[in-house]
Amino acid sequence: MSEHKDFLRTIVEKDLKAGKYEEVVTRFPPEPNGFPHIGHAKSIAINFGIARDYNGHCNLRMDDTNPTTEDTKYVEALKDAVEWLGFDWEGDVRFTSDYFSKLYDYAIELIKMGKAYVDSVGEEEMRELRGTVTEAGKRSKYAERSVEENLDLFERMKNGEFKEGEHILRAKIDMSAANMKMRDPLMYRIRHEHHFRAGDAWAIYPMYDFAHCLSDYIEGVTHSICTLEFENNRDIYNWVLDTLGLEPPHPYQHEFARLGINYTVMSKRKLLELVESGVVNGWDDPRLPTIAGYRRKGYTPESILNFCDSIGIAKANSMVDLAQLEFSIRDDLNKKVPRVMCVLDPLKVTLTNYEGTEELDASYYPEDVPKEGSRKLPFSKEIYIDRADFMEEPPKGYFRLTPEQPVRLKHAYIITCKEVIKDANGTIVEIKAEYHPDSKSGQDTSGIKVKSAIQWVDGKAHKEVEVRLYDRLFACEAPEDIEDINTDSLKVINNALVEPAVVNEKPDERFQFEREGYFYADPVDYTDEKPVFNKIVGLKDSYSKKKKSPKSESKAQVKKVQVDGEVVPMNEAEQALFDRYTNTLKLNGMVADILARDEKLSAFYDEALNELDSPVNLANIVANDVARELKEKDVNTLNFSAKQIAELVKMLDDETISSKIAKQVFEEMVKSGENPRDIVEAKGLIQISDLAVISPIIDEVIAKNPDNVEKFKAGNTKLLGFFVGQVLKATGGKANPQVVNQLVNEKLK
Ligand code: ATP
Ligand code: MG
Repeated sequence: MSEHKDFLRTIVEKDLKAGKYEEVVTRFPPEPNGFPHIGHAKSIAINFGIARDYNGHCNLRMDDTNPTTEDTKYVEALKDAVEWLGFDWEGDVRFTSDYFSKLYDYAIELIKMGKAYVDSVGEEEMRELRGTVTEAGKRSKYAERSVEENLDLFERMKNGEFKEGEHILRAKIDMSAANMKMRDPLMYRIRHEHHFRAGDAWAIYPMYDFAHCLSDYIEGVTHSICTLEFENNRDIYNWVLDTLGLEPPHPYQHEFARLGINYTVMSKRKLLELVESGVVNGWDDPRLPTIAGYRRKGYTPESILNFCDSIGIAKANSMVDLAQLEFSIRDDLNKKVPRVMCVLDPLKVTLTNYEGTEELDASYYPEDVPKEGSRKLPFSKEIYIDRADFMEEPPKGYFRLTPEQPVRLKHAYIITCKEVIKDANGTIVEIKAEYHPDSKSGQDTSGIKVKSAIQWVDGKAHKEVEVRLYDRLFACEAPEDIEDINTDSLKVINNALVEPAVVNEKPDERFQFEREGYFYADPVDYTDEKPVFNKIVGLKDSYSKKKKSPKSESKAQVKKVQVDGEVVPMNEAEQALFDRYTNTLKLNGMVADILARDEKLSAFYDEALNELDSPVNLANIVANDVARELKEKDVNTLNFSAKQIAELVKMLDDETISSKIAKQVFEEMVKSGENPRDIVEAKGLIQISDLAVISPIIDEVIAKNPDNVEKFKAGNTKLLGFFVGQVLKATGGKANPQVVNQLVNEKLK
């Protein structure tokens, strides 16, 4: 759970504290008329997340009151989505249709109270009688029917004696209400349709406004969380429960902003259109914003949940940039998945001076990733590289293989081009090159300078695979319908080549194909004969880069003009800094890279180092937090100095504060320009490492969560994080995480 509570959690906490409810009960109430999309993921994350955070429970309820559009296959898809995201619903899946009898009885009660009536006006007249925002409406003459007549008609409606539209049941509320929704809203309508669960038992079906509040009440829901468009329906929600005089506690409705993402459509109706028209290949097409689509594409549940968390819960609708979702998956996979080589567009290279074969050792993970594992890379006289990695007449800034410029084969040798062979049309069909025997990766004594390392596969020992590259399904930011489709959203490559370990060892289902992006073994079409990989996301956000105007780029950046996502080599000064950072100061490569390539940052870092000899912790805060500030500002307009950053890190080093608190203090420094030590003292943020203080807090958390204790003891060690998190939360992030971790572990043994 994020540090700052959202407004829904604030409400829930207040209600619990006030004793309004004993336990939080939420529900996720989709209509089973389509596959759930990422907007539903947000609703799932909120409803199930709140129930989890406050030890309550969350129901999964199919809101199946519309017989024409609903289907079991959608019920299954909804269950799948919730489970895949890692949540459990309480008990069985519920269905509004299971409450049809109860709802009918409640309707009869309202009729008997004179609070509901059968109306028989036509649609048009009804609209006229409703009035306008500035003009009160009028009741139809049928509102004068007696209770007996209403009861009789309603029963016959139910029995199917009337045609659709002949009668409706309306609540008798107020035809001049300022909230138009309160002008005698519909409660039931006649539908001669077969219901996928209730069969033909009913000729009338309840409306959302009547069914939803009562279903919530029947299930003991406490917080009925829905999207903003239901704001005006809240009055009806409360009216129904109050008018029926139902025994408290009642559920209350709270609204949040629905999620919208650019370059996509998000209503089930429009998604259904795309599926039915064959524009996409089914509900799980990786181009759709459905949960099944993201799942098939290779997104992880974690990345979706992190995304939902990162966008927060708001009270005003807004559009989220697709790039933010893509960031979440990239961020999740970056340190998780093996990095392997795949050549999408093979070009043969013959190494004229190489004989025999060998197997090269290659780690699956880069050095800064704390995962282990490696594979053998077969290497011989013939290899394939990507066609894009060779250019005969390269533009300036091209760092890969050219007739003049050698290149490194990743994990292998440096090669130099000797001859370019073309067919009759002038298309390059082969490169003859020489390898440098003393340039083997990790033991390079050749002294040859190269500007990049490229992926390759062995000429014989490789596997041909299908690769599916996806682009945005829509060509414009706020698409309306199929007209706005991007006709190039899927590109299939039939004969890409991967190194053998990918398909033989199968170290994972997801991979980083070096320099290409993240890929996922398609869960449906993949076979050992023909492996299929879906591109999940590229290595960087290629769109936002293109959008940047050249004007906004500083001179230093312009110098680094590059050809399609190449890693830019460092200049000499940068390289010298990088070497010092990694070799002498032992910074990890990524942090060193960020600092070395940015003059402002490296100067700031060196100044802070003069104050405090704590290279790693200083580097982390400078490369992450200070870097963010320096992006927009100049050093002398910053609200803090290098000296103050050193002071902050000093407190971190001597464990006065936790790293979580350090972030908080930094934010405060940015805003107020105060000294870190003053901030810590004024706000009482000193880290708690005292066992006597922490121990009872842990006991309390353990006592409050018997279910999780049991699960932990039964072997679900992942819950350690839950307990530690709860304790940290209880101390406002001030408890020393290491101490908490150790102590929790001991207590749960
Ligand atoms: P759609 O218009 O896409 O069909 P819906 O609101 O009709 O969506 P339901 O199945 O009725 O879909 O919704 C189930 C739950 O998911 C509701 O509580 C709804 O408010 C929520 N929900 C639907 N779309 C979004 C969204 N884009 N962002 C957040 N929550 C959503
Ligand atoms: Mg709907």
